[in-house]
Amino acid sequence: MRILITGGAGFIGSHLCEFLLGKGHSVIAMDNLITGDLGNIKHLFGHKRFSFVRHNVTEFIHVAGPVSAILHFASPASPRDYLEHPIPTLKVGALGTHKALGLAKEKKATFLLASTSEVYGDPLVNPQPESYWGNVNPIGPRGVYDEAKRFAEAMTMAYHRTHRMQVRIVRIFNTYGPRMRVNDGRAIPNFISQALRGKPVTIYGSGRQTRSFCYIDDLVAGIYKLLKSRHNAPVNIGNPHEMTLREMAQEVLRLTGSRSRIVYRPLPQDDPKVRRPDIRLARRVLRWQPQVPLADGLRQTIDYFRKAALVR
Ligand code: UDP
Repeated sequence: MRILITGGAGFIGSHLCEFLLGKGHSVIAMDNLITGDLGNIKHLFGHKRFSFVRHNVTEFIHVAGPVSAILHFASPASPRDYLEHPIPTLKVGALGTHKALGLAKEKKATFLLASTSEVYGDPLVNPQPESYWGNVNPIGPRGVYDEAKRFAEAMTMAYHRTHRMQVRIVRIFNTYGPRMRVNDGRAIPNFISQALRGKPVTIYGSGRQTRSFCYIDDLVAGIYKLLKSRHNAPVNIGNPHEMTLREMAQEVLRLTGSRSRIVYRPLPQDDPKVRRPDIRLARRVLRWQPQVPLADGLRQTIDYFRKAALVR
């Protein structure tokens, strides 16, 4: 296959590029680098089946030649990033999705949308199955991301129904691993970099809120299975192991051997109180479930932060 990945220089996008090249596909990575980083893909530049185009997918996308699949991963994705870039976040989720769908229609390509557990907002149902419609504040600070992704899902389903296009929607839950930005503001990068630098580890709120963290390799394997499936509707991909943020901070302190202390900071507005994927659909339709234990994934991530990120 010849595959276009928007957001190809991002955390998840760059892992997808690498994985798909490994499977023998050709990959075009597209990114405007507002939150992506060429450092994530520089090791792929010599590869003859790989190319990179710097482009903002909110504008018309031109790609010469055949394209078999478009994976639309372009978007700021950490709360700090989308609070800093609210309008680009809305534009890439809405206009960017429209452009990428238009290109997929033109090329008769399968379209895969990177959606998010944020479509469930601050959920009143836990764990969250795909059938849950969510509890989203449209005008709160997170609304720029949540509503853009909800619009993107609606647009994707409309193209499927109207143009009979092959579409996939992956609802990605919290994911971690090498190539997360040290300063992206999310819990795991913050905790690891704080622990490694001997700085206080910042827990927002009481730390009793929960998340469920999936290692990047598990996520990428699930996305590839979804791409190859015939499932034209959303599928949750994430790790159902739910934990409190306090437990996560303690695990990072244990694995880094850090003596940092824990400090408590105000909880950001509309921060979801619980989050855990119901992955029965992925298990049944994709025969997928996560394999990597938390401690193993965290060790890989800590290694990356020690070696690469902190010295960059
Ligand atoms: N969080 C925290 N300390 C930090 C960063 C985040 O306690 O330094 C909390 C945050 O308030 C949320 C959880 O960790 O409850 C996960 O936040 P993250 O930004 O990683 O992603 P989210 O799941 O909210 O999109």
